[in-house]
Amino acid sequence: MSDSVAVEHCSSSVVADTASDARPIYLDYHATTPVDKRVADVVVRYMTTMFGNASSADHVLGDEADAAVNDARRQVASLVGAEPRDIVFTSGATESINLALKGVAASFMSRRRMLRVAYMPVEHRAVLDTLTALAAGGAAELHPLRVDRGGRLDMDDLTEACRAGVDLVCVMAANNEIGTLYPLQAVAELAHAHGALMFSDATQAVGKIPLASATWGIDLLACTAHKLYGPKGVGALVIGPSATIEPLIHGGGHQRGLRSGTLNVPGIAGFGEACRLRELEMSTDEPRVAALRNRMEAILCARIAGLVVNSAPEARLAGNLHISIPDVPNTVVLGRIRDRVAIATGAACSSGIEGPSHVLRAIHLPQALQDGALRIGVGKFTTGNEVEAAAQLIAAAVLDARVTLSDLPRRFSHSGRQANTHSAGQ
Ligand code: PLP
Repeated sequence: MSDSVAVEHCSSSVVADTASDARPIYLDYHATTPVDKRVADVVVRYMTTMFGNASSADHVLGDEADAAVNDARRQVASLVGAEPRDIVFTSGATESINLALKGVAASFMSRRRMLRVAYMPVEHRAVLDTLTALAAGGAAELHPLRVDRGGRLDMDDLTEACRAGVDLVCVMAANNEIGTLYPLQAVAELAHAHGALMFSDATQAVGKIPLASATWGIDLLACTAHKLYGPKGVGALVIGPSATIEPLIHGGGHQRGLRSGTLNVPGIAGFGEACRLRELEMSTDEPRVAALRNRMEAILCARIAGLVVNSAPEARLAGNLHISIPDVPNTVVLGRIRDRVAIATGAACSSGIEGPSHVLRAIHLPQALQDGALRIGVGKFTTGNEVEAAAQLIAAAVLDARVTLSDLPRRFSHSGRQANTHSAGQ
């Protein structure tokens, strides 16, 4: 049965089949993606058979590793619309972002200039924390830009900031919580018209939407393999010809001295293969992903009264569905289904204890909607049956939580204690 047919049907047997499956239904594709088996095959090959060091110039194992890195550079460049020579491989988007922002700031410092940066408060923590560290060290002056309730950038505010004088404009390609897509070409044109560079954290967008980094004038672009069905621990920074950056990691002078260290050939070859596959398959996968996301949204809206969709409907990632259920804390919903459906309250974080989302605060989402926020991420391996089953499980958890929560004041007043809705159902 094709998935477009599958998404039209919802039956209780679907729910029962999936509920008996040992693995949870994975709908957290913004956090990470499963590695495509074709990519995994390439990674294993470069770990076990073609395991040479790309810098070993004395034998063919080095030559084949070096060739794999060059192939990957072409594949990554082709997917993001950049020149292969502009690709620097890193350990992931966090490192790419650090290299871009600290690298440009260091180059400004070497000319005794402080970097003036305009940025969106809905950027990923890797951008915000790096900028904050630069500002704390006196290397950058920060100018936050206005965004609206959908996380959309206020272009008039950006124009004003550019007129007032900025050296670098930071605008992500797609938001990792609410999925909002940004007009990168228009932002780059505006930045350049005022003599500023443009940096984009394109981590969530690469392999999901067409990108033309060089044509659009993006001077620095960060991405990572594990959001596009590649392995974790490998990413890239695209450094266009107009950007001058200082390296963060010194060593053997690898990658034109911009990022020393033995190249992670298996990861890089896998990243390249993942990019090659996205370039071939993105245009057929993403409309299907959007149809599944729409189906999920339709079921949840029909079954959960009062549900609010937070993503900007006209400009969001195909797989993104960000919702709020105002009267049920998200932890109460997740507590009921976390072994059966993998969805998130917000961005994945290192500690596992995610505080209030800075993105939801930045878009001024009312507190009740922040507390009831759920991020659902659909991906290319998601099936219609999974969407049907997960939607039913989420809806059932919400309805069940509502019954429990409405019962709480009565039970607690009976026992003389105060209700704590946040710990209910845990
Ligand atoms: N930027 C965005 C928008 C992200 O979603 C992520 C991953 O969560 C990162 C940066 C960091 O990526 P990495 O895990 O490769 O360091």
